[in-house]
Amino acid sequence: MGNISPTSESNLDVLESFFKKYPDVPKETILKQHLLSLGQWFSDAGLRAAAGALVKSYRLFSYDLVPMAELKRGEHRRVPEHFVMLHGPYGLRPVAIQTSLSPHSPYLVDVVDGRLVLTTGGRVIADVRYPKTPEYYAKSLSDGTPYHEIVAFGTFITIFRNCQYWGAREECKFCDINENARQMKLSRDFTLTAPVKSVEDVVQVVEAVADDARKVDSGPHGFVLSGGTITKTLHGKTEPEFYGEYIRAIKGSAAKPRITFEVNARPREEMEWYKAAGVDIIHLNMEVWEKRLFEWINPGKAHRIGWDNWVRWMCEAAEVFGKGGVQPSFVSGVEMARPHGYRSVAEAVKSTSAGFEYLMSRGILPRPQQWRREPSTALCKEAEQPPVPLDFYVQLTRNWYECYQKYRSNLPRFGNRRPGLVAERRLLGPVHGAYGDYVLLNENLYPDDIEEQINRRSVPFENLQGGSCVS
Ligand code: SF4
Repeated sequence: MGNISPTSESNLDVLESFFKKYPDVPKETILKQHLLSLGQWFSDAGLRAAAGALVKSYRLFSYDLVPMAELKRGEHRRVPEHFVMLHGPYGLRPVAIQTSLSPHSPYLVDVVDGRLVLTTGGRVIADVRYPKTPEYYAKSLSDGTPYHEIVAFGTFITIFRNCQYWGAREECKFCDINENARQMKLSRDFTLTAPVKSVEDVVQVVEAVADDARKVDSGPHGFVLSGGTITKTLHGKTEPEFYGEYIRAIKGSAAKPRITFEVNARPREEMEWYKAAGVDIIHLNMEVWEKRLFEWINPGKAHRIGWDNWVRWMCEAAEVFGKGGVQPSFVSGVEMARPHGYRSVAEAVKSTSAGFEYLMSRGILPRPQQWRREPSTALCKEAEQPPVPLDFYVQLTRNWYECYQKYRSNLPRFGNRRPGLVAERRLLGPVHGAYGDYVLLNENLYPDDIEEQINRRSVPFENLQGGSCVS
């Protein structure tokens, strides 16, 4: 497992000590943050129960704390993209969690007394649901590429599966996009090994997915377009020319979707160009707020764009896309990465919270998504990376919510969405971080029939064969 330290934080006492320490914080978000930080593992019975579930896509990063080559039971083609936990001894309300495999995690998804559950230290802490596969996952292009390798979980399209920020001098230090593409190819378990798919193929799949979504009355459908940076050219095109072609074609297709686009911060003219091409929401992913850490963690972004320009251009983009239309991601926890990150939780929380205040006061929504400590990343190769203290995540998300309450009139709302193709991704908080759940849980914004909605769209989760028994 390289430089990723295991943890001994495996029992209910640890978890309960956090519930007591932060009585004002939803238990669900504390547990979710621990699960994202330490990853999860699946028993044989837990894996068998995933038959028919929406399989993990490896669409961009691996989000695993273990290399694919070490997944000896074929976990990478069996585990669900995400799962929902609910109920259990704490009466948890549902939250959805991105699957991040780690054989060293204290959290095990298992079958106990015929039910699919999450356990730690041999004790059940929640029930678990795996989402069913949407119908379009069974379809393929004429060259055999499955639709779901082009559009993952009904929404996500990785247009370019590599990044030209390459090597130690440029690649973001938490990122395994290039290594993930390499390990997918080596595994021979994925069909789509070319880094780019044609515009026509992408539009064909987009229209099919949007058609399916209309059939389940999902309301307006949206796609997230992502991919690596193009520093020079790709197929003879600059970054805006290359991505612009897909944006225009998807926006002009029969799907007529809402488009969210992930790209480097760029000057106002380029933002205006993307908006005119059809982008509705833009993710100028800054990754870490503090200037010194931005330069260390994102060498390519720092060298080619710089912290000052990044911040200035996000603010200009808010004028182009409107309040709430700019939503940068932050890789929450890299503030404490070794050797140059903060050693103190208080300092790390203070630094990023100042960033939240700066951005939200300007109508920009920061999205703190948790660092997963993928083993092939520069951060994990260069130093031992112990788990980021749970106190950091709990305090930071609590500050995010306080700030959100202050500026919410200028920021996107949570809740009030229709279930769509993958219900839990639309009705619950984003799977990579707990900020959305914090709002939904604190303000009770779930639909009344949330559990029924999720159960109906899950593979069987009770009366299962095998697994353990609790005496
Ligand atoms: S810009 Fe950074 S985070 Fe994004 S794909 Fe390239 S190296 Fe990875």
